[in-house]
Amino acid sequence: MLSYQHAFHAGNLADVHKHAALSWALSYLTQKPKPVTYMETHAGRALYDLSGDAAQKTGEAAQGITRLMAKLPAGHPYLDTITALRAQHGPDSYPGSPLIAQHLLRGEDKIHLAELHPQENAALRQAMRGSGASIHQQDGYALAVSLAPPEPRRGLLLIDPSWEVKTDYITLPRTVQTITRKWNVGIVMIWYPILTDAPHRPMIAALQNDHPEALTHEVRFPPARKGHRMVGSGLFVVNPPWGLEAELQHLSKTLFAPLKG
Ligand code: SAM
Repeated sequence: MLSYQHAFHAGNLADVHKHAALSWALSYLTQKPKPVTYMETHAGRALYDLSGDAAQKTGEAAQGITRLMAKLPAGHPYLDTITALRAQHGPDSYPGSPLIAQHLLRGEDKIHLAELHPQENAALRQAMRGSGASIHQQDGYALAVSLAPPEPRRGLLLIDPSWEVKTDYITLPRTVQTITRKWNVGIVMIWYPILTDAPHRPMIAALQNDHPEALTHEVRFPPARKGHRMVGSGLFVVNPPWGLEAELQHLSKTLFAPLKG
């Protein structure tokens, strides 16, 4: 049973880390006129209301994007995307990864999104209507395996599970290996939480063993509330675009390091 709902966490510190990296990478990819494919295994509902009950209940967005937006460098594609989408959807809206991608991509690019939860999938379809994105209600890992290599071949796959199913930590490296064997030029960006008991460590060791040239980037931050287990955010990127590492180091220093107090 799926119980995770991203509305409680949208715009939190982990989203800032993940969405800033995603925006930068997509903006880099679209500098060339060649078309690209964007795929997501775990899309969520794409549009969030930070004034809604869920976001207000946890206060995570207040500690995340609301606090850090003013610190994003002028002209950063993440900042520009939020600003443009707020002009369209209202000042308290927050774009999830599918809307960020749709905003940064062009008409000739292809988008495939998987979201398994019926309600989230319905909301995703509503948020993405008219975009031309293909929306699938199926397991995202199976979709990515079946689409690899996509056409166009240049592109990015975001794997952003809710980590509700503990076997994700074991199956993810195997699935990524299957996908990258079929699609060796694709950028594969994986997000993972850094929890107090660090269940990500063996998974990251397996991924690093399979993809020694990949980029691992982690940031630490105070827990959202007392006793909350998430104390950081990690990204593992196979075939990282040139410049992404420097960009993430810069964001670490300017956005995340000051949070430690
Ligand atoms: N990527 C989104 C973003 O950054 O805006 C957030 C996605 S949220 C962390 C994870 C989503 O995955 C949830 O909406 C959940 O319903 C969905 N989900 C869980 N298991 C799935 C699966 N096996 N395949 C597809 N979607 C799944």
